[in-house]
Amino acid sequence: MLRVVEIFYSIQGEGSFSGCPCVFVRLHGCNLDCSWCDEPLHKGSYESFTSKEVVEKILKFPTKYIVITGGEPSLNNINDFIDALHVEGYHVAVETNGYRLANIKNADHITYSPKDWDALHVEGFSEYKFVVGVDSKIEKILNLKTKKTIYIQPINFKDRVNKKNTDFCIELVKKYPHLRLSVQLHKYLGVE
Ligand code: SF4
Repeated sequence: MLRVVEIFYSIQGEGSFSGCPCVFVRLHGCNLDCSWCDEPLHKGSYESFTSKEVVEKILKFPTKYIVITGGEPSLNNINDFIDALHVEGYHVAVETNGYRLANIKNADHITYSPKDWDALHVEGFSEYKFVVGVDSKIEKILNLKTKKTIYIQPINFKDRVNKKNTDFCIELVKKYPHLRLSVQLHKYLGVE
């Protein structure tokens, strides 16, 4: 069973698929408890559904793009759910802190947002997304040797932009142009 907090249709505001209309499936629970977490819903109530039941709910929306998020989607093995979405022709992206990448390996696109920058994965995902503020130890990012895209995303408030952190990230990307800025577009648009 999948522990589902919410299913909603919105615009992807982060990473490679920024601007893409997607159905978001938020799963319950996380292995971490980050002080700046902007998705506290993952700690609250949820409903349990089979993969088939979730796919039926998703079929009502017009897009073919799905984002599975949390919390931490790799707490459980959801590869069968991802395969059920593939059968219906969906492109499936997953957002993860890298807890158990094997549990989400069937996804088409995996955004890895590491929280322990001293123990980074190097394979098993599509792109990095570092969530950065003015106090972040950015040397770890700058020393990273990879061909994967490295997104830098400001630590924002839950429902609005943190200008100080955003300005810091803009200057960081301008100084190190191999980095890419991810701004959480949905917080500028005022959508979920
Ligand atoms: S890993 Fe992500 S969802 Fe989990 S507590 Fe940290 S910011 Fe929140």
